[in-house]
Amino acid sequence: MPPIYLDNNATTKCDPRVAEAMRPYFCEEYGNAASVTHSYGNQAAQAVTLARKQIAAAVGGASRNIALTSGATEANNLAILGAMRKSETGSHLIVSAAEHKAVLDPAMYLRSAGYEVTVLPVDRFGMVSANQVGEAIQPNTKLVSVIAANNEVGSINPVAEIADVCNQHEVLFHTDATQLVGKLPFDAKAMKVDLLSFASHKIYGPKGIGALYIRRGLPKIELEPLIFGGGHEKGLRSGTIPVPLVVGFGKACELAQREMKVETARLKELQAELFSGLKTELGNIEQNGHPEQRLPGNLNLVFDGVNSEALMAKLNDHIAMSSGSACTTADPEPSHVLVAMGLSAAKIRSTVRIGLGRFNRFDEIGDVVEQISTAVQELRKIAVG
Ligand code: PLP
Repeated sequence: MPPIYLDNNATTKCDPRVAEAMRPYFCEEYGNAASVTHSYGNQAAQAVTLARKQIAAAVGGASRNIALTSGATEANNLAILGAMRKSETGSHLIVSAAEHKAVLDPAMYLRSAGYEVTVLPVDRFGMVSANQVGEAIQPNTKLVSVIAANNEVGSINPVAEIADVCNQHEVLFHTDATQLVGKLPFDAKAMKVDLLSFASHKIYGPKGIGALYIRRGLPKIELEPLIFGGGHEKGLRSGTIPVPLVVGFGKACELAQREMKVETARLKELQAELFSGLKTELGNIEQNGHPEQRLPGNLNLVFDGVNSEALMAKLNDHIAMSSGSACTTADPEPSHVLVAMGLSAAKIRSTVRIGLGRFNRFDEIGDVVEQISTAVQELRKIAVG
């Protein structure tokens, strides 16, 4: 039996319906979507046009709002470096301390290149408020970037309120909505978000494709491209469009939209069942992140007295979960999100992230509860002994 996969905030299994939609575009409809002088290219272009509509619809946008990228990392870089490099050196960027590294690292790079960067502290849930953002805005502020839903602790920021404040101050607002899109309703246009990043592989689509939503209309948003070449994506992101990946991303968005209501309810139930099962076996367990304003399916738990690395190693054959942000496991430092939330080093060492997803079943939960609680109890005994 393969281990039960509980790391859906890191990535998800490609839905077989998505894989099936992609299949013809590898070996049969393999044209270049920019080669519209023949039917192969036209077929590919049509497929991309439909997929772009599906991708845009997932965030309440239209095709013209979407610039395709290799994923959310690139979309974040395009938004942040792109907007800031179009402004004067020395202009001001605001980010929160609980951003993904794909936002924090470009922000730190900009600081080293002479831009002014404010990193807003977060509360104990990993969140920032619209007030905080308003107070940090200065006359030279160009852009604010605040994560929509945190990839580690699942807390959801008040994105609409923050967008409102940024609009009042005529400052651009970007949100990294990689964990939220496709899981909860989101309308970038209605929320007056200027820029928004998201990715396919978090919503049962293929890896290697994502998008930046860009508000159109006045005042026009100017972005400096990261990649120059053939002028694809309205000159914002040159390079031959990976048609199978785009088709898969489109299908994944369409399925996520269509099935969101049922899936969200199911994930919430799975999450509640797992949490209450663990509490029954182990007594009180601390949960990081906001108790209500949180992603369905995400649990970030502290097993006091247990080293999370040892727990995962013990469960390696049975359960796949993570100790923090799998997106930064190349970095052995403790999670910067948990540090920013004020957790002690001991609590951080004892934290585990569980991400339930579309392919988890109710009949797995009992097994997961048993495996985790037995392992936690054994490790606690060893720690005491
Ligand atoms: N932003 C958030 C919130 C994420 O969870 C991830 C996950 O990896 C990323 C950005 C990076 O996305 P990608 O893997 O598509 O580059």
